[in-house]
Amino acid sequence: MGKKIAILGDIHANIDALNVVLGDCASQGVTEFLCTGDVVGYNACPRECMEMVRSLDCPVVKGNHDHYVAAENLNLEDFNPAAAAVVRWTREQLDGDDIRWLADLPFTVTAKGMTVVHSTMDHPENFGYVFDHQQAETNFIQQKTPICFHGHTHCPMIYEKQMSGVFRIDPQEIHLKPGRKYFINVGSVGQPRDGDPRATYVIYDPAERLVTYRRLEYDIAAAQSRIRAAGLPERLAARLALGQ
Ligand code: ZN
Repeated sequence: MGKKIAILGDIHANIDALNVVLGDCASQGVTEFLCTGDVVGYNACPRECMEMVRSLDCPVVKGNHDHYVAAENLNLEDFNPAAAAVVRWTREQLDGDDIRWLADLPFTVTAKGMTVVHSTMDHPENFGYVFDHQQAETNFIQQKTPICFHGHTHCPMIYEKQMSGVFRIDPQEIHLKPGRKYFINVGSVGQPRDGDPRATYVIYDPAERLVTYRRLEYDIAAAQSRIRAAGLPERLAARLALGQ
């Protein structure tokens, strides 16, 4: 049995989901981790999630929410009031060391033929969304490795680049083929938005070139109570149950 790497992200301060995911990683024999960013934002346990992610001691890239919380001169006037409230609340929960850690995260990490980015390799600092072939094509121009893992949309999705063009593949168990490029959205641990509320991450086995999506039930009611107890916007609690 080959080495197994877990690729996870868009945790968004949801410790109930993260604990279930890490428990699953242990039972699946995962020994390495890559994090696609957005450790904080939306949910009520930024400190606990940061501590957990930092303890994995793995490559982590910067998500837009990590950036919002860490950026000193960010103008929150441009945000809708609920979003601004979460950014302010999250800042209050973290200490200076955590904020610095978020601020210092790189936009991309490349190792062993794989790249990790939060959004897209096309100007990663702009946090653009990839939902269609054109946007995937633009990413592939900048993607120098055969495999790139990302998140940001919170929707599991795979794009494959062949000689003849770019194709979208259902996010299921797939064997990656040599000579092609893959742009793999690993979904979201803490706030899935594809209509399935279960926590999502990916396991990659490099020897088998096998990508497997994992979907896990977790205690959504517990995460919702934490959001309400923290006084964060009700919509953030409601959407967890819907997977939106
Ligand atoms: Zn996100």
